Amino acid sequence: MNYAKSKQLLERSRKVIPGGISSNVRALWHPHPLFYDHGKGSHIWDVDGNESIDYVLGRGPLLLGHSPKPVFDAMCKQLERGLHYAGQSEVEIEAAEKFCGLVPCADRVRFSSTGSEAVHAALRVSRDHTGRKKVLRFEGHYHGWFDNIAWNYAPNTEGEPRYLPRNQPTTGGQPEEDGANVVVLPWNDLDLVKKLFSEMGGEIAAIITEPVLCNYGSILPLPGFLDGLRELCTENGSVLIFDEVITGFRFSLGGAQEHFGVTPDLATFAKAMGGGTIVSAVAGKAEIMDRFGSLSANHSGTYNANPVAAAGVKAALDFLSANGGAELKKAQSTAKSLMVGLEEIAESTSLPLTIRGVPPVFHVSFVPEGSEPVVDYRSAQLADSEMLTRFWSGLQNRGIRVVPEGLWFVSTAHTAEDVEKTLHAV
Ligand code: PLP
Repeated sequence: MNYAKSKQLLERSRKVIPGGISSNVRALWHPHPLFYDHGKGSHIWDVDGNESIDYVLGRGPLLLGHSPKPVFDAMCKQLERGLHYAGQSEVEIEAAEKFCGLVPCADRVRFSSTGSEAVHAALRVSRDHTGRKKVLRFEGHYHGWFDNIAWNYAPNTEGEPRYLPRNQPTTGGQPEEDGANVVVLPWNDLDLVKKLFSEMGGEIAAIITEPVLCNYGSILPLPGFLDGLRELCTENGSVLIFDEVITGFRFSLGGAQEHFGVTPDLATFAKAMGGGTIVSAVAGKAEIMDRFGSLSANHSGTYNANPVAAAGVKAALDFLSANGGAELKKAQSTAKSLMVGLEEIAESTSLPLTIRGVPPVFHVSFVPEGSEPVVDYRSAQLADSEMLTRFWSGLQNRGIRVVPEGLWFVSTAHTAEDVEKTLHAV
């Protein structure tokens, strides 16, 4: 692969855009951040003309592939009628009706633009509803980049106790005080959560969790863990928030909450729900969500539910849910065949290739044999990160584009031929 033009653009970009990139996660790319020209279906082309089968899918939004026609057409049709009104529109109600018809916890939904904002709104309304301040979050989970929740995403856990480890900011510029109401525990350990609730249950406004730890290795909840969180929240009057920014409309039309049969009080969504449209949502029980409606909890945003985004959501959800969810099932089955193919390769090699996840999103890593089971952030660190980097950059050189941290997103546009080529490259 030749990346000469990308390199040139990066040098030009660095003069006007810090680091030449607009989101810090893009710095991780090898040999350096790349510039892209266009995408179509399951493929993407960079500015040097290199074509790749794309399993990054915009880091998740493109569940329908690049520029999916139904979403594209609906957005264009709306664009002709105006991009933004800063007022209500009928298409927004249609998107909300569709959304609430699919998601078990959603009596009501509010739209915004990014996952971080949706999380922010969920935390605020939980605190307003309970009159409490503290939020329990788990090590390794990602809930966006805002100051009051971006704690212990990638902490140094050496010497840290499992019960109430020290709060660690994710970045410079994060005031200590912003973590004062964040309580952190390792994930998947219900006994620790029970201990916490026995000591301070009356102070906990909310538990926030990714229902599957997609952002740190697609780690599944242990049997009973999510149910246990549900029970503790119900008993203690705390709000259970599922962060479904990745899992939503992907694990099932009703998200991870439908897949696992555990209904949270609130849930946050983004990515797949708009098929690439810039949109996010917080949804949940009427008695909590209506605090936004009564203006008790503020939720604002210039671009919230702009009609182009709303048209995109309606079109994406209509497409995914048509014919009993046939398109979503197709993406899941394509991903399953990749996972099975990778498992077969794993069996035929001496490398500790490990595949984990719920199709159509899964994680590939190299976990040394004899390691303890990967159930949380701490155990996930046993994986060989150097080998993973060699693997994904090797794949990129063979025209297979995956997320550097090891996640693979599969879309409705991926084909059996894509799977075959991919397994061949692996
Ligand atoms: N929550 C989860 C589970 C995510 O994966 C992400 C982003 O990847 C976010 C929240 C933040 O979303 P955004 O990047 O749109 O702010």
